Amino acid sequence: MNSMKTNLILPFGRPAVIASLVLASLSVVPVGVSLAQAQTPKHVLVVTTTTGFRHSSIPTAEKVIGDLAKRTGVFTVEYARVENNDPQYRGADGKPDRAKYEAAIKAVLAEKMSPAALKKYDAVIFANTTGELPLPDREAFMDWIKSGKGFVGMHSATDTFHNYPPFVEMIGGTFKSHGAQVEVDAINQDKSCAACRHLGDTWTVFDEIYLFKNFDRAKVHGLLTLDKEPNNKTPGDYPIAWIKEYGKGRVFYTSLGHREDIWDAEWNDGRGGGRKNSPEISRQYQEHILGGIKWALGLEPGEVRLPGTTIP
Ligand SMILES: [Zn+2]
Repeated sequence: MNSMKTNLILPFGRPAVIASLVLASLSVVPVGVSLAQAQTPKHVLVVTTTTGFRHSSIPTAEKVIGDLAKRTGVFTVEYARVENNDPQYRGADGKPDRAKYEAAIKAVLAEKMSPAALKKYDAVIFANTTGELPLPDREAFMDWIKSGKGFVGMHSATDTFHNYPPFVEMIGGTFKSHGAQVEVDAINQDKSCAACRHLGDTWTVFDEIYLFKNFDRAKVHGLLTLDKEPNNKTPGDYPIAWIKEYGKGRVFYTSLGHREDIWDAEWNDGRGGGRKNSPEISRQYQEHILGGIKWALGLEPGEVRLPGTTIP
């Protein structure tokens, strides 16, 4: 006779005791987890430096990520940022002077991303970075991720380090091109992942939609994709967001994040208009990146499952 059957024939009262013990343990565990998170927030470095195209949405992205940290209390943020258009980096002609702002970028990255400085962070976010960034030691940065840290990339994070294959391998793809900004129905590939569980079967967003090279569907766990090319609508697989492992590290990337109004529910063009995404879409985007950040920090469950592998 097994123990299940034994319990069924026990006198009234014993199963109730067992049930209350189960309920007690269920109610204790989540409280303990949230207290631990509240007591020891993770540390995240947000990098927004650009040596290529500079998105006007960068200040919005910086603010939104900082607000998410404050609102949730589960992580703190520091920034590695240089505003290339700032007057201090302009030349005699009044235009941004590449030598000046690149020297500033080199200095801030030397300070925040040296092997010693990285030790205090649990994850690094590349929010709309572009170009070949002058990291003090990019191999050490890759090794830092591999050691079990988190990496999060938004939008033009894949338009960064085109000429450094380890970065491409780590993030999972390289920006190739984009058409006109367009409304798309992104297919939710994993409703159990923290980055997507608040979304329905499809999520309609308006943004600049990237096409990729160096992307291998077999090497990522898909979160959002399109079943047709965003602009000409040719059927196919057009990835938008994914997670993957890099050594022991956890990588989350979403190609969405070009427009201010996808980041920020409050944004308008200064005359109360200009939005293509509703405030609700912005809030959903914030939950999308928050879920991805928390997953990369190890604060949310979710195994990386590659296509063709069996779900245990
Ligand atoms: Zn863009």
